Amino acid sequence: MQVTFCGAAGSVTGSCFWIKTENMEFLVDCGMFQGSKEEREKNRREFLFNPGNIRYVLLTHAHIDHSGLIPRLYLQGFKGEVLCTHATKDLAGVMLPDSGHIQEMEAEWRSRKKARLGEPPVEPLYTAAEAVQCLQHFASVGYGEIFELGPGVRVRFSDAGHIFGSAIIEVWVEEKGETTKLVFSGDLGQANQPIIRNPQLIENADVVFIESTYGARKHENKEDRVERLREIIIESVASGGNLIIPSFAVGRTQDLLYHINLLLKEGKIPALPVYIDSPMAVSATEIFRNHNECFDWETVQLLRAGDSPFEFPTLHYVRQVEESRALNENARGSIIISASGMCEAGRILHHLKHNLWRPESHVLFVGYQAAGTLGRRLLEGAKVVKLFGEEIRVQAKIHNIDGFSAHADQDGLLQWLKGFTKRPGQIYLVHGEEETMEEWAPIVQREIGIAPVVPAWGDSYELRGYHATLVQTMQETTDQKRALLRMLKNVEFDYLNLKNYVHQQIDQMDDAAIEKLAKQLRDLQAKIRKVG
Ligand SMILES: [Zn+2]
Ligand SMILES: [Zn+2]
Repeated sequence: MQVTFCGAAGSVTGSCFWIKTENMEFLVDCGMFQGSKEEREKNRREFLFNPGNIRYVLLTHAHIDHSGLIPRLYLQGFKGEVLCTHATKDLAGVMLPDSGHIQEMEAEWRSRKKARLGEPPVEPLYTAAEAVQCLQHFASVGYGEIFELGPGVRVRFSDAGHIFGSAIIEVWVEEKGETTKLVFSGDLGQANQPIIRNPQLIENADVVFIESTYGARKHENKEDRVERLREIIIESVASGGNLIIPSFAVGRTQDLLYHINLLLKEGKIPALPVYIDSPMAVSATEIFRNHNECFDWETVQLLRAGDSPFEFPTLHYVRQVEESRALNENARGSIIISASGMCEAGRILHHLKHNLWRPESHVLFVGYQAAGTLGRRLLEGAKVVKLFGEEIRVQAKIHNIDGFSAHADQDGLLQWLKGFTKRPGQIYLVHGEEETMEEWAPIVQREIGIAPVVPAWGDSYELRGYHATLVQTMQETTDQKRALLRMLKNVEFDYLNLKNYVHQQIDQMDDAAIEKLAKQLRDLQAKIRKVG
């Protein structure tokens, strides 16, 4: 079979793998590229495959960087089915139309700008209506069931502990009597986060594709982060301003509510008003209530005792635009949780516009901020930012707690990799920024004992059991220096894999084989020396 990396390769967003077996073609994820303008332009690129040939999309979870191009896939001729867990299906039901809506707004805004330059309008990537249409093709499966996808292909979804409904996907592909098992980690959660269960350990795999968002970071521990949250809330109350929390509508928002509810109940913070100003977060919270199968034991106990983390007396859900506007003008001494989490779109922008310039305001980041986003710029200390064409001076205090992240950190990722009882044949590191990979890849090699591969967008590998061969690469030529360094890295990885292989096999090799290999290596060494 052939696996091609169509996104989240050398970057965090746009997750998409194209798998072509001898009998069928399917995708794992079909996500949107997010972040800088350059990243977002990638969404308009031709797919690397023919959408008409794809029978299924196996969707790890509802986040847009994993699901956001599914409506476009339909517009381009995909006629198959999207398979995901029950909760993911419900969440995608609100998230994809919302994404379509954002696409329409953005296209409209860009078109107006273009019209003033006498240029033709911009078409949205897809509309909210188109997103709604594609939802008919979603079908859901339960955690833990093994089912047949097509001839020679079996699949199972297991809990990834990242957000509601998130899954690790195991795929068994049988070709010419040999079975190759692929494991796609999806986004992995941290252990012991509230509401949802821990990521499941998988015992065996021939090939592992693991996310790497926080491969180079370690989170502060749970007690520390809740304490930090308490301190920041107290500080914002003392300064009389608002505490604005940009948060992903799904996952982070509900976790924050869980902790704020506990802090209130324990009398550790005053009873200040908390507003959830994101229609999607409101819908998502409703979906959460309907999916008991996703809760962890503690949350089940809490709900049984009649206490819902999603309700407390000072908590207000804001749906209407008018209410949201009133909040912009009037709110003082409140916590306002709003989306999008990376400050790319949505109502959070209005709250930032009304609060960033006030020295008494506070902004707290609790999730990953991709390179190129407004969130990242604020986090990196931007003094002036542009919002709705207006320059705003940043005088609010900016805070960051990354312990609330829905992603496992370096220790969590390693722990999951160590869960394989037998060492996998290949490990591909995906869903991480290039700088992260540089630090993370050697750690995986040291701790797990095999040199992982950091694929680039468009790379295709032929996989059979433990064996992998790079069959095609589309290294982007825009940045030649980077491409060269990446290539060097790949040569290094290939060398280390060869070294491992020789160490394991040397006792079984006969003299002729050893001499042949030694000669090949001598020639290679001479060639490399010549280059230097
Ligand atoms: Zn995610
Ligand atoms: Zn992701």
